[in-house]
Amino acid sequence: MPITFLFLLHHIAGSVQIESLRYFAGAAGVALLCRLLGPSIAHRRIQPRRASRADRLRELRQSLWAMGVFAIVDLLTVVLIALGAIAFNRGAPALGTIAWQTLALVVMHDAYFYWMHRALHHRALFRRFHAVHHLSRTPTSWAAYSFATGEAVFEAAIVPAMVAAISTIAPAEPWAVFIFLGHQIARNAFGHAGFELAWPGFTRSRWTGWLTTTVHHDLHHSEGRSNFGLYFTWWDRWLGTEHPRYHERFEAIVARAPESSVRDVPVHGAVGP
Ligand SMILES: [Zn+2]
Ligand SMILES: [Zn+2]
Repeated sequence: MPITFLFLLHHIAGSVQIESLRYFAGAAGVALLCRLLGPSIAHRRIQPRRASRADRLRELRQSLWAMGVFAIVDLLTVVLIALGAIAFNRGAPALGTIAWQTLALVVMHDAYFYWMHRALHHRALFRRFHAVHHLSRTPTSWAAYSFATGEAVFEAAIVPAMVAAISTIAPAEPWAVFIFLGHQIARNAFGHAGFELAWPGFTRSRWTGWLTTTVHHDLHHSEGRSNFGLYFTWWDRWLGTEHPRYHERFEAIVARAPESSVRDVPVHGAVGP
């Protein structure tokens, strides 16, 4: 099919629609869950400070902007398909293929995110690309896509690149991409939720300790100098960038009795690159 202006416009409109559906399902879904759980998770609030309505609106506005950028960057997918670098399986979906491709996408995305994120914290890049995301000192699930234009480009460009990498081995399964993106927004929205829902011992267990928690990313927002990882704790542990008191902070929050106050948690220091 020839790539025409109208075709590209149609593609952009479709991308915005799908991205916003995914964003609202994740961000609003997690916000609604926290509200519904209400008093039963009040003692699991991570920070003493509460995000204001203005904070949430800023996160929402910035996320809407970023989704417009995602849609334009996603034109790369159209170009790579036209060049033959991306091929999707048009036949019946194969479960095994969906499983390995989903896993590969998650692991590749986690590695890419860690290094991209660390680069964005370099003082030469922080203000221009990443400071907008860190305006959320007390993040909420609405911050999931709260990115400046430049960061939104870096965040989105990896998806067609990964699908192209998969296509060198086998035609990409649309279901694998769909599940990967669903997992991405769910983990992203929970990572910014402001409440810790995991259980005591989670961060130290050999079965669960390799998964990031909400406290993990919340500490990144409140202090900014550690915990750069996305889905897994591997990279931060390998590279020595895990918050030195991560386990301690986590346990202090999850050990609170339901009636205890969030004021037990210290107020965090300044954020910077
Ligand atoms: Zn950051
Ligand atoms: Zn964040």
